[in-house]
Amino acid sequence: MPELPEVETVRRMLAPVVVGRRLLGLEHDDPARYRGAEGAAGRRVRALRRRGKYLIFALEGRLELIVHLGMSGSLRLDEGTHTRVRLEFEGATVFFNDPRRFGRLRAVPAGDYRALPTLARMGPEPLDRGFTARALAARLARTSRVLKTALLSQEPVAGLGNIYADEALWKARLHPARIANALAFEEVQRLHRAVRGVLRRAVDLGGSTLGDGAYTRPDGEPGYFQIEHAVYGRAGEACPRCGRTIERLVLGGRSTHVCPRCQRR
Ligand SMILES: [Zn+2]
Repeated sequence: MPELPEVETVRRMLAPVVVGRRLLGLEHDDPARYRGAEGAAGRRVRALRRRGKYLIFALEGRLELIVHLGMSGSLRLDEGTHTRVRLEFEGATVFFNDPRRFGRLRAVPAGDYRALPTLARMGPEPLDRGFTARALAARLARTSRVLKTALLSQEPVAGLGNIYADEALWKARLHPARIANALAFEEVQRLHRAVRGVLRRAVDLGGSTLGDGAYTRPDGEPGYFQIEHAVYGRAGEACPRCGRTIERLVLGGRSTHVCPRCQRR
């Protein structure tokens, strides 16, 4: 699933294409799934923002078109075999491709996220200046869930999914089954630094394109952060820090990758 670095990469590439242009219309093949998105038609794009894994087209008239790419969705500048929605802008067309149809588009009054509970409850943006280790500690203190599950909820911090949660926990040397509100402050500081470091590097490399090729940039090119994954998808390989074999376990129903030496319970 596209996570913060992938969505940020899409945002950076699409912003010059759509900002300042009018969205002339949306065409789609699935009235139920994309109902309400049509309300965005006819409005000019003021800004293209990102919040966690959500892409937000800020439109004139205080309306927002919210796009969640789901499991396999992508916004592309060329039409694909799984194009579900065509977004016609003045002078450009953007195609929402979504083979597995888990993606969502929705138009809402600006800032009104009642219909999008994950977005409404979302924690701070990890790459914002104001995101401190203290802010992360305060958020982790509210939950007795295990770290991996807490991070995937988006509530302690926005934008992490399975890949970047595993990578950040490895970098911070924290076991994903540790209880979120039982961390020492020094451990939270390590996690804070790791989350920012991993995400910054992944944004620099255009995100991660996995073997399924589901995520690509809007121009069809891959991201390159997968080359630097330390643990994600690397069960059976050697830990790049200590050489111990990476293990895969299941936590909260999600596959999780750890180094049993670097990340002790
Ligand atoms: Zn290790």
